[in-house]
Amino acid sequence: MNFCSACGAPVVLRVPAGDSLPRHVCDACGSIHYRNPRLVVGALPEWEDRILLCRRAIEPRHGKWTLPAGFMENGESVANAALRETLEEACARVELGEMYTMISVPHIHQVHVIYRSRLLDLDFAPGIETLELRLFAEDEIPWDEIAFRTIAITLRHFFADRRAGAWRLHTEDLTLPPR
Ligand code: ZN
Repeated sequence: MNFCSACGAPVVLRVPAGDSLPRHVCDACGSIHYRNPRLVVGALPEWEDRILLCRRAIEPRHGKWTLPAGFMENGESVANAALRETLEEACARVELGEMYTMISVPHIHQVHVIYRSRLLDLDFAPGIETLELRLFAEDEIPWDEIAFRTIAITLRHFFADRRAGAWRLHTEDLTLPPR
């Protein structure tokens, strides 16, 4: 950030009084511009023994498979964000279940939250950010073509929990992959 979004004056990066981290501070109007992690929210839509994946029509990871998910908007609840993203990316209506995975991704300043959900019908269609939709059984999951680590982790938990017949919330912190 170079300029204050409140008044347009140049900002400086320094630790404000009483704070512990450097912030973009505007000495012209006194604004302190905090930057905090963003929430990425989505759903894991089930239909009988299969789950719905979306093939991405946008970067990053164009052409790879993912669950319907995206950035939470101001003014909505976490659950509503999951429903909205599922509708936008898959034109699919689901009944949300429990929050299922919450994975911190500190190196990109994000937290990914996925809900279990049940498709209400098979009347889904690709949204504008999606090339293709498909229901996958466990042995059909294209593991090498999953767009994001948090989605692969969520899918692995799902199939493991289903085999065990025991569901719980999984919270994790993702670390950078070894180079
Ligand atoms: Zn300012």
